[in-house]
This record gives sequence, C-alpha cells and structure tokens, in this order.
Amino acid sequence: MSLCTLQAHLSRSAPCPRHTTAPSAAKGALSAGTDRTRAGTSDLIRLHGSLWMIKCFDECAHGARPWPDERVPLPDAVPHCPHCGGYARPAVVWFGESLDAADVDRASEATACEVFLTVGTSAVVYPAAGFARRAQSLGAFTAEINLEPTPASSFVDLSVLCAAEDVLPRLDQLLA
Ligand SMILES: [Zn+2]
Repeated sequence: MSLCTLQAHLSRSAPCPRHTTAPSAAKGALSAGTDRTRAGTSDLIRLHGSLWMIKCFDECAHGARPWPDERVPLPDAVPHCPHCGGYARPAVVWFGESLDAADVDRASEATACEVFLTVGTSAVVYPAAGFARRAQSLGAFTAEINLEPTPASSFVDLSVLCAAEDVLPRLDQLLA
C-alpha cells in the first residue's frame, strides 16, 4: 500500500465531522496534544485541553469555563481570573485529572467514519490510543502517519513511516 491508497480512500469518503487528521479534506480532528491550535481545523476535539486557553484555578462560577489567552510572554508571572481575582491556570488536563467525559464521548463518536488517520503519536496513551482500533472495528479504513512504528502499526490498514509535516502536505496536493 502507498500514499496513493490513502488518497483513494480519502477522496471516496464522505466528509466526516471528526477525524484524527489535518488534511484539508478532513472536516474535523481530535487531538491528544495541547499545542495544536493553529492548523485551521474546523472541529477539533482537544482531549487534553489547550495551552492557549486558561481558566480559573479555583473554578469560580464564571471562571470555570476556559477563555483564550495567546499572549507571549504573559505580562504577569501568573495570570489572574478576571472574575474572582484568583490565579488562572492552563486549561489542560494535568496528571491526576480526568478527561472531560463529553470530549471522550465526542471522540468515540468520531470513530464512526470512513477514513481514520492517526498522525504523529506513539499510540500508547489511552483512551486516545484505542480510537483507531475502534474506528477499524466500525469499518473505517485506518492509517497511521508517524516517524516510527507504534502498537497501531500492527493492525492499521496502512502505516506510513514518515514525518507528518512531509506527508500531510503531499496528501493535500493529491486530494486537490
Ligand atoms: Zn475565578
């Protein structure tokens, strides 16, 4: 199989609301990273939150909902919640915290698609690592794009062992 195989599957598939991908043909993506905010994806599920969003550390009534803060560098050592004046923190999932159940549900629903790409991940951290196998069991063509083999390499339909930044633009060109 080759990149053309993947291109063929992507070009035949109907737009799906969410994929783990960034080609322009995709209508959405899910991310386990916290720093991918500028890829232009229209419907991104951020399983671990975003470094570019902050929220009230004490989760006061109005500050529990994250707000964007892309200032670099931050003017204060620690930003403050504009609602209660307490400290604010990155709106990411720290060790020991739970993923947002609604995001996990949305990500699980996204596995009901025609083509599911796993891009730039070690595929070892669950629940995200389980979505490719779930997509495949639901009938999706599955592919991974990663520099090195991963546990997903043993079952996906296509494993492309290259840098995502090289493969995804080529895939976009093939789909154009
Ligand atoms: Zn607050």
